[in-house]
Amino acid sequence: MKVYGLTGGIGSGKTTVARMLRERGAEIIDADQVARSVVQPGSVGLSRIIDTFGAEYLDASGALDRKKLGEMVFSDEGARKKLEAITHPLIALETARLLDELRARGVAIVVYEAALLVQNGTYRGLDGLINVEAKSGVRQGRVQARDGLDDTHALQRIASQGGNAERLAAADWTLENDGSLEALATEVDLLWGRLHSGPPLGKPSGGGR
Ligand code: ADP
Repeated sequence: MKVYGLTGGIGSGKTTVARMLRERGAEIIDADQVARSVVQPGSVGLSRIIDTFGAEYLDASGALDRKKLGEMVFSDEGARKKLEAITHPLIALETARLLDELRARGVAIVVYEAALLVQNGTYRGLDGLINVEAKSGVRQGRVQARDGLDDTHALQRIASQGGNAERLAAADWTLENDGSLEALATEVDLLWGRLHSGPPLGKPSGGGR
């Protein structure tokens, strides 16, 4: 089984690429979804967070108030480290469990979608790294349309991720997504064909073929 990373800045179209790969038969592990699953109501993760930070981080339905907790740890480095010490091992375990399950099913190609694969070095353990790029103005327009943000907030979200150059340098295959969804689908077809011949992916980053 080969596991490829899929990354890209916010608004680049990574989730769209993941969906297109799934339609073509890839199994997708979505890192955001895994991160949410380890703190869902009734989870060990959630009870550890509440023991550590208090019940004020639960919303009215008893679920984790991710926005409130996110705002608190954003301005408190120590709290962020404590939170990560709770969540990271649980995320690693859950990801390993999902991979084991896919391996047992005889799955050949897994795509692991995550925004921060390069910044944290995770991509090094994978069989290849796929990167989705789009010009910053295009990304901004998409993020504003998708999330209903004004200019300032959309730009903040884009800037807070950073790492564009590192991502491009680390990528084995870069999809340019400045055009139509049809054009992207054609790029994804090419990539999907290539994934079947196994690593190394070896398309120069940023280049078309
Ligand atoms: P990311 O996961 O990288 O933040 P998404 O895949 O969610 O990005 O894309 C952001 C938004 O832009 C979504 O609403 C998506 O439908 C739209 N989008 C992505 N690629 C294109 C494209 N080539 N043409 C038009 N809309 C697109």
